[in-house]
Amino acid sequence: MNHKVLNKVLIVDFLIVVVLLIMLLGIYMLFTDDHTATDGYIPSTPPTQTGGDSSLGTPTEPPVIYVKMNISGFCEKSCCCGKFADGITASGHKIVAGDCFVAAPSKYPFGTKMTIPGYNNGLPVEVRDRGGAIKGNKLDLYFGDKDGVSGHQRALEFGRQYLIVKIERSK
Ligand SMILES: [Zn+2]
Repeated sequence: MNHKVLNKVLIVDFLIVVVLLIMLLGIYMLFTDDHTATDGYIPSTPPTQTGGDSSLGTPTEPPVIYVKMNISGFCEKSCCCGKFADGITASGHKIVAGDCFVAAPSKYPFGTKMTIPGYNNGLPVEVRDRGGAIKGNKLDLYFGDKDGVSGHQRALEFGRQYLIVKIERSK
């Protein structure tokens, strides 16, 4: 009797051990699966790389763009600048003889280089001024006195032109 009971207890104990072993095996397999999943995760990080690429793409706004702009001229005197005719641009630049610069919409930061065909011998000039009417794709070119012709006259002669402007974004 006692012996049989002991056997039963042993069998129960054995079963418990087996169940525990199976559970441990299961946990181990789960752990291994997790591990494999993690391993799979690492090569499957191209999404992260793609994310990196696209985040690279966002600031990779081309440093040089070409934009068709509605361009007119102005001089620094009150005829063109009214009460702002103090010879100092919105960027704080003091206008000097022979200056060439543009007034551009605020989306183009001061210092942005623009090349306007037929202006400043085709060399780039900087954005140094703003203007109430200078919005969208409008530009105002500064004209100073030159060869006995007033800047205002030169601005009038330039008139209004639609030209493709090369814009180099500053950092
Ligand atoms: Zn003027």
